[in-house]
Amino acid sequence: MKGLGKAAKRHPIPNACCVHYANNGGAACRACKKGIAEKELRFGCDAHDGDWHSYHWHHWGCVTDELLRKVGGKERLWKVQRLDPKDKQMIEQRFERLK
Ligand SMILES: [Zn+2]
Repeated sequence: MKGLGKAAKRHPIPNACCVHYANNGGAACRACKKGIAEKELRFGCDAHDGDWHSYHWHHWGCVTDELLRKVGGKERLWKVQRLDPKDKQMIEQRFERLK
């Protein structure tokens, strides 16, 4: 049971998605399969695989409208408040275009 509490702490919102600057390089984008470099803007969704929590990452530029619809609105994205204003605006505009 030890690991469970930790996972819950890291993922307070089930199926949460976030947008942030990659804190390390090496994650592969689910769409184009290329690596996401450190500091690059990336979109991640909580992916459950049994007890294992991980994120499915995408380059922000590789995110599809379908994926964004699943998020259910920009207010449900994590970590956006820490981004540069220009990136926040870009994300908001992307969500506005979904309608
Ligand atoms: Zn990509």
